[in-house]
Amino acid sequence: MTRSEILNWLQEDDSHRLRELAVAADRVRREHVGDEVYLRGLIEISNYCRCNCLYCGIRASRRIERYRLSEDEIIGCCRQAAELGYGTVVLQSGEDLGLTAGFISRVISRIRDEYGLAVTLSLGERTPAELAVWRRFGADRYLLKHETADARLFHEVHPGSSPEQRIRLLQRARELGYEIGSGVMVGIPGQTYESLADDIMLFQELDLDMIGSGPFIPHPDTPLGQVDCLAGEAPNSDLMTAKVIALSRMVCPEANIPATTALATVNPEAGRELGLCWGANVWMPDLTPERYRRLYDIYPGKADAVSIHQSHERLLASITAIGRRIGSGAGNRHRRHTDGV
Ligand code: SAH
Repeated sequence: MTRSEILNWLQEDDSHRLRELAVAADRVRREHVGDEVYLRGLIEISNYCRCNCLYCGIRASRRIERYRLSEDEIIGCCRQAAELGYGTVVLQSGEDLGLTAGFISRVISRIRDEYGLAVTLSLGERTPAELAVWRRFGADRYLLKHETADARLFHEVHPGSSPEQRIRLLQRARELGYEIGSGVMVGIPGQTYESLADDIMLFQELDLDMIGSGPFIPHPDTPLGQVDCLAGEAPNSDLMTAKVIALSRMVCPEANIPATTALATVNPEAGRELGLCWGANVWMPDLTPERYRRLYDIYPGKADAVSIHQSHERLLASITAIGRRIGSGAGNRHRRHTDGV
């Protein structure tokens, strides 16, 4: 797909034409990654953060109760993941240097030894040396969204870093043997359709293994809490996010693409199903212990604010209802042999 085709799709609002995009993405999804929906248990291990991103509710300067899970608490969540048949756990946090390299290494090796689960890390920007250690201890994947390819916009909303810096770290992670994932927030105030087209071109250029995109959700207690979308800017809607998912599938046919919690938050009735029918093949149920979950307050109204067993029932019903099935095992990137042999 060319950049101008991508841009046209992002700006398309004819529902019949958009149906064609959804059908095409769904076909590419079926051909390349099949009907399995892989489950990744999300564990929000700390809400401490050194960053002050203008969009995020756990930003450093916000006075909120902070928590960091103990090793045993994390392992307890992993036991649940294993019992529910999930193949992967995702350890996510704010940029918390209190999560030391040694602590994360111990947690990874226990998860590998005790449950044999694949481990995805999403701990923000850590040093290449730390990533190397964690890889040696058995971490499989690293998720670090570049959020927006528009360097100026990135700088405004996420001071102290840049999309280039995040992409360099992802490339380093790939050299270390990680599967790598990026993604964007859709509808950040000031985000143009052109820059979203650049984001999707970048997914393709990086040949990402995982792509997680969700709508921007204003958090009232952050500087971006009150801003409205202006004409000419990409809206933070479920449909706009579904278009981004579909185009991500078209440019990276083999990638693992989640129907994200943020998408389910803007459309609680059908957001996950929408994502799964527009190219997604992954669901990330929240396994964070209930008493901490409300403190990982990156945006308001986070879906999955129900018990783990309730959300498991819900996901089984949804996945079956759309004619799909739960994937088993780690659900690594599906690679076709492209070496001509
Ligand atoms: N500290 C890690 C993880 C951040 S939380 C990191 O920086 O990579 C995971 C994701 O939540 C972020 O990458 C961002 O895309 C998303 N997020 C944060 N605030 C949000 C908001 N207000 N609306 C939608 N998504 C948000």
